[in-house]
Amino acid sequence: MSDSAHSMATKLIHAGEPQPRVNRAVTMPIFQTSTYLYEGETDYHDVKYARLNNSPNHTVLHGKLAAISGAEAALVTASGMAAISTTLLSLLSHGDHLIAIDCLYGGTQTFVTKNLPRFGIEHTLVETSNVDSWSKALRPGSKVLYVEAMTNPTLRVPDLKRAVAFARAHNLVTLIDSTFAPPGLFQPHGLGFDLVLHSATKYLNGHDDLTAGVVTGTSERVAVVKQWLDHLGGALDPHACFLLQRGMKTLSVRLRAQCESAMKIATFLEGHPKVSYVYYPGLKSHPQHKLAAGLYDAFGGMISFELHGGAKAADEFMRRAELPLLAVSLGGVDSLMIRPAAGVHVNVDPKDRDAAGISDGLIRLSVGLEAADDMIADMAQALLDLAH
Ligand SMILES: *Cc1c(COP(=O)(O)O)cnc(C)c1O
Repeated sequence: MSDSAHSMATKLIHAGEPQPRVNRAVTMPIFQTSTYLYEGETDYHDVKYARLNNSPNHTVLHGKLAAISGAEAALVTASGMAAISTTLLSLLSHGDHLIAIDCLYGGTQTFVTKNLPRFGIEHTLVETSNVDSWSKALRPGSKVLYVEAMTNPTLRVPDLKRAVAFARAHNLVTLIDSTFAPPGLFQPHGLGFDLVLHSATKYLNGHDDLTAGVVTGTSERVAVVKQWLDHLGGALDPHACFLLQRGMKTLSVRLRAQCESAMKIATFLEGHPKVSYVYYPGLKSHPQHKLAAGLYDAFGGMISFELHGGAKAADEFMRRAELPLLAVSLGGVDSLMIRPAAGVHVNVDPKDRDAAGISDGLIRLSVGLEAADDMIADMAQALLDLAH
């Protein structure tokens, strides 16, 4: 049923599902057991045990994730950070060097710059939008290139084709965090990326009710990550596997609606006199609009924007808006909004925030499944008579 000729929407429903169905159940049941009867397995990593990521719930989910990612194999983890940290630890040893873009997800940035150096793993952060400058970062120990499909929160788009070519020319293993551009929008393996990482907490699950991560790649590469995950212990619980599998079935309809709404909302915001700048890769004004159009099938559900009145106006706007909830995270059915400089990036040095283009007044909006017209009406009333 995971026929590669099927479209994404069909694969999301059928790929990986057990054949025949378990006790004829249409929906995959939850195997809420930590351990399984021993059947003569000879390798520790093959023993059936929930921490070893091989329950029936894991197996089904891995099949579905591999099919929708165009990959040979997939692995789920307890969070996006578990996928990222476990994969990096599985690839890099003392003395190795990592090249990563300078606009990383906050948790990844801290892991690379503060945690990995303790194990003798060094790094150089390179300019996200300037692939020509990356060769200066190369060292004899350079082993991995780490990029993101779209950066947070200013939605820059790195030249991902050139990134792969650069890595191939220098024998680097290529990793991409594609959380902001999930399957249905973008297939990094199609461009040649070796390992693709996701926070499944976001679009893949889409309901803001669990944390999970995903790693996809060749069977050989994913098996190495699995051995590390087995020991680091970041296994996804079978109940969360069940919820993620359920959430994923609607990914393509959710994404289509979120991308359509985001385009309408971004266009509304760009035309509003109180709004000074809108960051959305679907807008012609976005500096990498053409690049994004060549990479993605649509432009995602994330919008960042600035108001003329700066941080004060942003806070007032966020108080007045009634539909988007004020919370971190993204990609779910509820629209969520934050001011990164006051929230997720509050611990980042203001100079580094400036370099990353995160002004004090920047608002990040994750567009959910509310009707676009209702969202626009709500934002219009929140912008009306703004004092700042
Ligand atoms: C949320 C997020 C992560 C971390 O995922 P968790 O599931 O919260 O651990 C990593 N990368 C990106 C781009 C994210 O948005």
